[in-house]
Amino acid sequence: MSLLDDETYARKLDARDPLAGFRDRFHIPPGVIYLDGNSLGLLSRDAEAALLRGLDQWKRLGIDGWTQADPPWFFTGEDLGRLTAPLIGAEPESVVVTASTTVNLHALVATFYRPHRQRRKIVCAALDFPSDLYALASEIELRRRDPAENLIMVPSRDGRTIAEDDIIAAFSKEVALAVLPGALYRSGQLLDMARLTAAAHAHNIIIAFDCCHSIGAVPHHFDAWNVDCAFWCGYKYLNGGPGCAAGLYVNRRHWERMPALRGWWGNDKERQFDMSPAYMPAPGAGRWQISTPSLFASVPLYGSLQLFAEAGMDAIRAKSLALTDYLIALLDDLEQDGYAVGTPLEHERRGGHVAVEHADAPRIGKALKARGVIPDFRPPNVLRLAPIAFYTSFHDVWRAARHLHEIVAGGEHLRYAAGRDIVA
Ligand SMILES: *Cc1c(COP(=O)(O)O)cnc(C)c1O
Repeated sequence: MSLLDDETYARKLDARDPLAGFRDRFHIPPGVIYLDGNSLGLLSRDAEAALLRGLDQWKRLGIDGWTQADPPWFFTGEDLGRLTAPLIGAEPESVVVTASTTVNLHALVATFYRPHRQRRKIVCAALDFPSDLYALASEIELRRRDPAENLIMVPSRDGRTIAEDDIIAAFSKEVALAVLPGALYRSGQLLDMARLTAAAHAHNIIIAFDCCHSIGAVPHHFDAWNVDCAFWCGYKYLNGGPGCAAGLYVNRRHWERMPALRGWWGNDKERQFDMSPAYMPAPGAGRWQISTPSLFASVPLYGSLQLFAEAGMDAIRAKSLALTDYLIALLDDLEQDGYAVGTPLEHERRGGHVAVEHADAPRIGKALKARGVIPDFRPPNVLRLAPIAFYTSFHDVWRAARHLHEIVAGGEHLRYAAGRDIVA
């Protein structure tokens, strides 16, 4: 029997899934198979309770919430940093939760991009998320240099992936900084961050990783790999909610650096309310905070990170790989419907989602949504399907694959207009 006809097998995989119990801790929209957790993770009951607790503290305590709430709001960034640290293999003081992804990128690049003599270029990847490319070009322009000359975008050989060999070949005495993704947002390729860090350091290049698509899906070992700095968002695999506070990591050996973009929230906490005109930077990564945390966009992470602490990153990764392995195997049966897999098949090169390619991807995406399956679409031809270890079952994956087949077999997608919606 083909995998696509074998519902019992999907049920069997669910029956022996050690993380199956976490599904009930999430609000799953009724009647929906949610495969878009790589864009916006679903709400857990724990995150919901943490947010409601924050509202209640505001109601009861007003301004005193900064010191008397449990935990006190004043230390939110540091507290959540400490709770995030195990997800990325970092010591607690090297992580802080603050601001948003692109803002943290600027805060780190402003600090760590120090062009000097002929060492003035930044290496990134041509398939990077556009916000990163805009930000890097602007950081170069701020220093009155031309991005066309100074931003090296390592090209892709196949339109899907970036070869680590090509990135390393771009490292030279002219490069000051490398800013690279942990996993590519479209194809889901996972990069070898340990190897890239070692190669960057062999050329005296500082290396930063954008981990939006790897944090919460894949274990990281930043301290052991000796990564210089990193940043990520809280609303994808971390399930912190739309516009959730983001995070950043700075390796201990850089803690003495002065942040280039300063604000009072990066001041030493003991002295912050001295209101002194002299800036006294906080010890650790806390000094890269700029302003007052957006509390209600931060506290849901107390609940989310509790789930990660309970499940453990290794178990989450093991289930994520089992889910994407299963999805990829099912897609093998759908070749005759025109589907192809654009994500690397090797585990060590795969992040948390599967890029499903089809010439009619935008229309198939719309037909899937009409059937209650939520993917997202990335131009030109990719449907991203992210089965999430916490709340996607193997049976969900099996049903999603059946839908993919039935839509094309019945020509159902042809009823929809081509092209994407404003938020894809
Ligand atoms: C989602 C994502 C972002 C988002 O940036 P925001 O500042 O949170 O809007 C940036 N980079 C990558 C790689 C992403 O996947």
